[in-house]
Amino acid sequence: MKQSENTKIETQFIQGGKNPKNQDGYVNPPVQRGSTILFERAEDLYNDDLRSYGLEGSVTHDNLTDLLSQTMGGAGCVLTPSGLNAITLVLLATLKSGDHILVSDSIYGPNRRFCDLVLKGFGIETTYYPPRIGDNIEEYIKPNTKLIFLESPGSLTLEIQDVPAIVKVAQKHNIITAIDDTWSAGVFMQPLKIGVDISIQALTKYQGGHSDVLLGSVVCKDIALHNKMVAMHKNLGLGVSAEEVWLCLRGIRSMMLRIKHQDMAARKLAQYMQTRPEITQVIHPALEDSEDYAIWSRDFTGAGGLFSVYLKPELSDKVNAMLNAYQIFSMGFSWGGFESLVIDCTPQLRRNFPNKEQKGALVRYAIGLENIDDLITDLERGFEALKA
Ligand SMILES: *Cc1c(COP(=O)(O)O)cnc(C)c1O
Repeated sequence: MKQSENTKIETQFIQGGKNPKNQDGYVNPPVQRGSTILFERAEDLYNDDLRSYGLEGSVTHDNLTDLLSQTMGGAGCVLTPSGLNAITLVLLATLKSGDHILVSDSIYGPNRRFCDLVLKGFGIETTYYPPRIGDNIEEYIKPNTKLIFLESPGSLTLEIQDVPAIVKVAQKHNIITAIDDTWSAGVFMQPLKIGVDISIQALTKYQGGHSDVLLGSVVCKDIALHNKMVAMHKNLGLGVSAEEVWLCLRGIRSMMLRIKHQDMAARKLAQYMQTRPEITQVIHPALEDSEDYAIWSRDFTGAGGLFSVYLKPELSDKVNAMLNAYQIFSMGFSWGGFESLVIDCTPQLRRNFPNKEQKGALVRYAIGLENIDDLITDLERGFEALKA
């Protein structure tokens, strides 16, 4: 598609990732299933410039990888069967036995589990760093540190990291940086444009947007690193079905509209939560009294529709009653879909640097597309249940 360099991101999500010439003129690609690809000439069988097998993707996949590379400013994109698999692909492609990795203490739980169980078994050492460390991360660097893995804001506790400061230190020491940027959907923050080498998305969340797809992506800033991802992807035998890709493409076209609404709604609900005596702290970096507000407003142009709250310690043993009273907020893991979700995250919280002041239950809300007043009424139902 013809495109000018400086179209805005909303327009890029509509114009990008299309290849009608290759798909009979249709705007959207076919769901190109398949393992075998046929060749007309024996000379082409081992031509590395041609796609030769189903694991290498299809025209369907190309639409999505082109769109993601373009909107994130990357050199290339690989798709993985889940967001978690995008994370593990990056770890396996960049590390080897004897290496050391720095990982944010606020990292997505299954990422931590992979570091603690799998990487450790391979002789790769992980050190967790406090997410708000900034350029003091230099003190954690060892001679064998190969990768710094960031997530900003962090999972569950949503601390914002000073990404440019950490990147600067990493570049000085020749260390690769990777970020799990799922919360901002690769749009509200543009990690590759502020120097991060690798941007990871759980496309399962906002891009899919309808809770019917599991998919991940890895977009690299430079082609050498991208080729490393492609090679490990091939060595691991990873492949993604064209159905999943097609559903994600369908979702992603309306993503900007959805996430802007979810951002606005989440901020309103977070502000409402701040007025409630049952809550000791609302964790949302776009609230002006958040300790992360300064860095958030410097590096982000919007916010994901996900925030957490600490319940008063004396009410925390009733957290299940609050959750069970909701009629609109459903209980479920994951987020980014059309419906509002809630979980008590306290049982899954693992931190080397816990927030000592906060002892109450930690509850996470993912805001969907319902009417905002209805959602507030539902939150009130939960608070009523705490009185019983
Ligand atoms: C959900 C999530 C993932 C994993 O995505 P899946 O597709 O569910 O494997 C990774 N990182 C973050 C921050 C997530 O919220």
